[in-house]
Amino acid sequence: MKSEYQELLEATLDHLEELKREGNRYVALDPARLADLSGQKLVAPTAKAARVPVAAISRPSIAISATVAPTPVTAPTLVYTSAELSADAKKEAMGRLRLKAESCVLCPHLAASRTKVVFGVGDCLSPLLFVGEAPGAEEDKAGEPFVGQAGELLTKIILAMGFTRGSVYIANVLKCRPDTPGQQSGNRKPTTTEMDTCLPYLQEQIDIIRPRALVALGGTALEGLFGKTAAGITKLRGTWKEYRGIPVMPTYHPSYLLRNQLISVKREVWEDMLKVLERLGSPISEKQRGYFKGGG
Ligand code: SF4
Repeated sequence: MKSEYQELLEATLDHLEELKREGNRYVALDPARLADLSGQKLVAPTAKAARVPVAAISRPSIAISATVAPTPVTAPTLVYTSAELSADAKKEAMGRLRLKAESCVLCPHLAASRTKVVFGVGDCLSPLLFVGEAPGAEEDKAGEPFVGQAGELLTKIILAMGFTRGSVYIANVLKCRPDTPGQQSGNRKPTTTEMDTCLPYLQEQIDIIRPRALVALGGTALEGLFGKTAAGITKLRGTWKEYRGIPVMPTYHPSYLLRNQLISVKREVWEDMLKVLERLGSPISEKQRGYFKGGG
């Protein structure tokens, strides 16, 4: 007769194999649970939820016993590499991920209040990825990130860089609009829990695209990627960081530029974009170099 432990273990394995058949590649595990499973001490107490490849899960060939030592599980740092994925495979992987996000209910309150999941838009073969924090009311209705005034400004920045909106990729850390119960209008900042819950979608987008540079738009997007830091966006903008092996340029959010019309602030953002163009090896004209120079 099977013990309760064996029954539970077999049910868990059945569930994981079902997920694998459905095409899921990862399951989220919090760091403490992962450390328990792998029999290791948790060395990074602030680490975010890790994802374990479902493909790595297989039914043990030995008889299941409560005394069997657990197999160490390690979370991948990289899901895909560009070398691994052809253009078609990238598009297919992104399409599958989109379908998954569109039916996601991991944040029940956001799933209940959203109009549309705002997955991301653009070319998943692009060398350049822009990341914002979360959809607002307009994005929630349109199902597309960065529409409305801030979106128009971002589009202008992208055009000034020599790209088009369709030739870069644009996504948010959070795919559903943060709800605002009891409020008729307005947006709110996503919570840390909401961003941590949704982050694996963005991580997988990054791993599929493998852009050559990522622009983090605003302090909240930066916080979603790197966690809370003592230094804010004012200090960190203009300095390269790295995320999942991709160079990250933090800069101000376009909505900050709309609130703050100083030419000097526009120039700061533009200088950040010039650094991105240099990193990409894109040609920069004298006219481009001179935008917003000399104002205060
Ligand atoms: S915010 Fe992200 S994790 Fe939460 S329900 Fe929406 S898609 Fe799922």
